[in-house]
Amino acid sequence: MHPSPLPVLVVGSGPTGLTLAIDLARRGVGVRIIDKSPEFPRTSRAKGPNPRSLEVLEDLGVVDAVLAAGAAPLPMRKYRGGVAVADAEPFADQRPTPDAPYDRPRMMAQWRLEEVLRARLAEYGVRVELGAELVGLAEGEASVTATLADGGLIEASYAAGCDGGHSAVRKLLGVPFEGKTDETQLMVCGDVEVEGLDRGFWHQWFDEDGAVMLCPIPGTRSGWWFQAGPERDASGAPMPPSLAGFRRLFAKHTGLPSDRLTEATLLSTYRVNERMAARYRVGRVLLAGDAAHVHSIAGGLGMNTGIQDAYNLGWKLGRVAAGLAGPALLDTYEEERLPVAAQVLDISAERLRATLEAIKKPGGGLDSAVGPGTNGLGGGYHWSSLAASPRATPRLRAGDRAPDAPCLDAATGDPRRLFDAFAGPHFTLLGFGTGTGGALRGAAAVHGDELRAYGVDADGPSGRLSDHEGHARAAYGVGPDDELLVLVRPDNHIGLIAEADDVKAVTAYLSGDEI
Ligand SMILES: Cc1cc2nc3c(=O)[nH]c(=O)nc-3n(C[C@H](O)[C@H](O)[C@H](O)COP(=O)(O)OP(=O)(O)OC[C@H]3O[C@@H](n4cnc5c(N)ncnc54)[C@H](O)[C@@H]3O)c2cc1C
Repeated sequence: MHPSPLPVLVVGSGPTGLTLAIDLARRGVGVRIIDKSPEFPRTSRAKGPNPRSLEVLEDLGVVDAVLAAGAAPLPMRKYRGGVAVADAEPFADQRPTPDAPYDRPRMMAQWRLEEVLRARLAEYGVRVELGAELVGLAEGEASVTATLADGGLIEASYAAGCDGGHSAVRKLLGVPFEGKTDETQLMVCGDVEVEGLDRGFWHQWFDEDGAVMLCPIPGTRSGWWFQAGPERDASGAPMPPSLAGFRRLFAKHTGLPSDRLTEATLLSTYRVNERMAARYRVGRVLLAGDAAHVHSIAGGLGMNTGIQDAYNLGWKLGRVAAGLAGPALLDTYEEERLPVAAQVLDISAERLRATLEAIKKPGGGLDSAVGPGTNGLGGGYHWSSLAASPRATPRLRAGDRAPDAPCLDAATGDPRRLFDAFAGPHFTLLGFGTGTGGALRGAAAVHGDELRAYGVDADGPSGRLSDHEGHARAAYGVGPDDELLVLVRPDNHIGLIAEADDVKAVTAYLSGDEI
């Protein structure tokens, strides 16, 4: 295994491509990221990162910028016949917990999140190459060559198609995009300017013959996300979205003067597609984000699943490109993420069904789109070949998301969370109890920079964390007198749980062909 002198090519600079490019760049892997668009988008589209994506963004070093640019989810105000009938706050009962610091999504325009991600990427010296449309791909023995629309060629070690639902990469690979398109569930959406509406609410008007939903776009004075059932012509066919049409829908369902809505951009008709790629990897080319799966926006999982795909792929592609692991590691990306896409399709279909049912009744609204699975925190990769583990605990098994816990740095007494210890491109070995000290030192000596080894109430080469309130032991299901090793992958999932002195298990895991 040798490091490739060629860069990894990321095709598409949406949230998926940018996340992947940052994760590669922070590992020191050469990366180029191209986009066919001549300029960066200013359209709002997805409404913001969910709790799991916020954890990913924290690891990538941008969560403070994201929290500052976004806003807390607003209460929803629901109307019938133009009259407010109910308010709902779907996240009102949720609180951050020691093991999960983000209890609700952060609302922000997609273009703003992309701006934050691009700024982070630029810190590694990588800039998106605009006006660069991929039109061809050819795989050689040790590289893949992309052809651009202007005839330019880019030779790369690997290519990642993060180029959205109409993915040219997926089509060029001939990978089927299996599923269905529902032409009956249509919605028009756009970014609009509206004056004189209370920006403290996500307003939702539902009537027998349609709906209009308006959510303020954070960071703007009078910008709103607009969603509505489409107007239909005399034959019942949906009419294309337009400013005039949005104003008619606005006046009809809100009872407010149509001239309050002054501008509309990103005019789009949205159909519910439920499709996923049959494969995520063909040789040196991988698919991620909307290129790999599309589904209803109910539950807000579209962009979030893409960010989380990229987080799963980043460390694997980074290790393979750097010559630290064989290409078999890349197969675990499809092995882990393709079933997640299937789950996400099911979750979003169920949230859509629940929402369509709820809005038939007065007081029903988009709060029904929030439900089990939409925070992204639940899932693990238990079926993965990377999750074979000698031990489990009553709380956790290999493949699970690695929980956070507030601890103290035993040397300084300063607060130090487990997420602080995990942050960065390395694996983290946690040793619970003093009996793990030898294994922590042994593993660190073998694996050098790729592993940080912390003792939880034990001395580790990377530091000693004091679990002064027992949150770490509670989150990891380790009893007060139990001693255990827990290996956390760079994407903050549990790789391995082993006996306190089982340094061999750790070394075997980190030296395996797949890793
Ligand atoms: C109008 C609208 C409203 C939406 N609302 C929501 C919502 O409320 N909630 C939600 O969760 N999701 C929503 N979505 C979906 C969400 O925007 C996507 O899930 C998300 O953008 C996926 O991110 P991505 O990076 O995978 O792909 P994209 O964001 O689609 O990025 C793909 C990038 O690839 C580039 N590209 C494409 N082809 C090529 C090529 N051949 N060569 C080079 N570059 C190429 C494109 O220019 C684009 O920049 C909405 C989408 C739209 C369009």
